[in-house]
Amino acid sequence: MSKNALDNANYYFDHAAKILGLSSDVALQLKTPHRQVKVECNIEMDDGKIGTYVGFRVQHDNARGPFKGGLRYHYEVDDQEVTALAQLMTWKTSVVGVPYGGGKGGITCDATKLSPGETQRLTRKFVDGIYDVIGPTSDIPAPDMYTNSQTMAWIFDQYAKYHGYAPGVVTGKPIELGGSLGRSSATGRGCLYACQNLLDVLGESLEGKRVAVQGFGNVGGWAAKLFAEQGAKIVGISDISGGYVHPEGFDVDAALEYSKANRGLEGFSGGDKIDGEAILVHDCDILIPAALGGVLTKENAGDVAAKIIVEGANGPTEPEADEILIKNGKYVIPDIYANAGGVTVSYFEWAQNMQHFYWGEDKVNDELRRIMALAFDSLWHETKSRDISMRMAAYCVGVGRVSQATALRGV
Ligand code: NAD
Repeated sequence: MSKNALDNANYYFDHAAKILGLSSDVALQLKTPHRQVKVECNIEMDDGKIGTYVGFRVQHDNARGPFKGGLRYHYEVDDQEVTALAQLMTWKTSVVGVPYGGGKGGITCDATKLSPGETQRLTRKFVDGIYDVIGPTSDIPAPDMYTNSQTMAWIFDQYAKYHGYAPGVVTGKPIELGGSLGRSSATGRGCLYACQNLLDVLGESLEGKRVAVQGFGNVGGWAAKLFAEQGAKIVGISDISGGYVHPEGFDVDAALEYSKANRGLEGFSGGDKIDGEAILVHDCDILIPAALGGVLTKENAGDVAAKIIVEGANGPTEPEADEILIKNGKYVIPDIYANAGGVTVSYFEWAQNMQHFYWGEDKVNDELRRIMALAFDSLWHETKSRDISMRMAAYCVGVGRVSQATALRGV
């Protein structure tokens, strides 16, 4: 996320609060995070030295249910970024109507430079610092950038040492430990359903649409695969190594295999190499930013060619860029709806854990489709009835529901 992550989150919130007519005391109550935890994590590095890291967990709001949100291992993680992302989670869980609040966490580190052993020790140390503020009915972490199902398995195991067997303490776990079928593809699949819902009301379809994707990890990789399966042409992909374009569309499975085998796209020869940032303004119909926040700025927003932007990443669009995109007639499907497929299937995983009863993958995907469609109906209705952008509509739906729950619970 950008340096202004928190300013941006507050900017969109304040705007929604104004549209909804919330009083300033209620707005301040909703905006203020419930709890911010910061812990020192010392580990032994592989070379025998001591590695000192700082981990964060921010619990923003739990009026509608336990705090819920991912854990990110990245060198840009800090209090402000985590607080901003926690707030986004509060509105996101509300937009899709899953019974959670919002939280987020992370560790400031360069995950690409840590060995698997170091990552495991760091994860366990982090749990030693936060085990009393997380739990299946209080705060439930999940994967985010540079964390995955293995990270969740270590958290589940370390937490069990303090509180006993409780698979519902994290979601995004491996299937063998109570993970849900369909969770790994869920965020990318949610992006697909979000985009299809918009195309439906526009009277269009995905067939033949040219798509560019920034980021080729969990979200970007799955989105590319699933959009291609529905007849779209993936004409641009990128990761930290740069951008790759192919006018006829990539063989996405080959790109995924390459990326898996080589831990990234560096050296991939299935298309022409371009500058990583250039993927955002590449000639296409649909752009899916699915890596970092703050990538669409006032400098590049005017050059975005895509008509539809599906925010797979959290906070990819700066407010000034958002205004430019809207002015240019673009449809920006906002992060708090577009990438909510992940938390929705996390909710299914948690529900399965609490009931010790497991679903088939078709049921997971069908329920995800149903929830994304319901949420789209509310947000499209709000867009049209208030004549506002889809982002502000999503904020109005999300903030409105949290504000009602908060009022009902009382001070
Ligand atoms: P990931 O770690 O699996 O993948 C991140 C990808 O981004 C990698 O391909 C990496 O190379 C690429 N990347 C990193 N820096 C880049 C740069 N400067 N330019 C281009 N690409 C770059 O992470 P993820 O889980 O796919 O998360 C991606 C985004 O989606 C994040 O913003 C995250 O918050 C958001 N998100 C993830 C989930 C989820 O379920 N994983 C859910 C909702 C939102």
